[in-house]
Amino acid sequence: MTERPVHPPRAEPREVVELKQLKARQPDLATAVDMQLALVELQRRVQSRVPLPWIQADPQWLEAQQREGRPLVRFADIPLEWSDFRLAVRRTADILLRFESLDGGDHAQIVALGREGNALEPVVEQWYAVSSGLEPSADAERLPPGTPGSLDQVLVLAIRPFLHRCAEALSQRLDLSAWTHGHCPFCGWEPDFAVITPAAERRLICGRCVAQWAFAALTCPFCANDDRQLITSFATRDGRYRVYACDVCRRYLKAYDGRGASRPVLTSVDAIATLPLDAAAMQRGYQ
Ligand SMILES: [Zn+2]
Ligand SMILES: [Zn+2]
Repeated sequence: MTERPVHPPRAEPREVVELKQLKARQPDLATAVDMQLALVELQRRVQSRVPLPWIQADPQWLEAQQREGRPLVRFADIPLEWSDFRLAVRRTADILLRFESLDGGDHAQIVALGREGNALEPVVEQWYAVSSGLEPSADAERLPPGTPGSLDQVLVLAIRPFLHRCAEALSQRLDLSAWTHGHCPFCGWEPDFAVITPAAERRLICGRCVAQWAFAALTCPFCANDDRQLITSFATRDGRYRVYACDVCRRYLKAYDGRGASRPVLTSVDAIATLPLDAAAMQRGYQ
């Protein structure tokens, strides 16, 4: 009798391990963790199929874009393989529906859009042009009339693996030290998290492509308020996370404090671990 060789299970990625530990530690976050695990798994699968793009861009154009605070990734640069992308849109919508983050009617409309041959393409192109600020004069709506507003959230998640590759490709050959804006140098989206480095610098993290860029520690990235009296900052008891809230525009940003930390920031984990901080910030009247 021959025994079948036993293969050890493949090592799980760090963010998956950390998410599972978080769930065991804080069972009240279980549903949020499970949704995040499903999204992370989908995005990793999609991203493994996306090649690192070779972005042809004139160095002078790249410099001018940076000077004017405009993003560096044009729609045509994104290595969108449409059948993969359409599948990512449908799967993302399925996950959000399963965890009651998407309404059934919206889900049906979004999945239908993701199934039809060429219907999605012009919608995504317009959405990217307007939401990235690439077209300085674009005053058009992000989404065409009749499409559900929740498509925005689905597209942000579904395009992430593709845009992330663009940011990876460009950051290898660009110096971004002159970029002082609160929005993402690659895709123009807003930051939705930050990290404080061991050198006490704050880096913002894009809510769409997950790229990082340095930004003044006590300036609001949303309204550029830099009056320290009007920035409220508070930390969790263990010192691992911090909130920066702006008393001018009333928005806030959470950060992972990497000083003396045992691991680097993992946005997919830290965004969920800090859900109680969102409640604390909102209780203080921030949005
Ligand atoms: Zn971005
Ligand atoms: Zn502000």
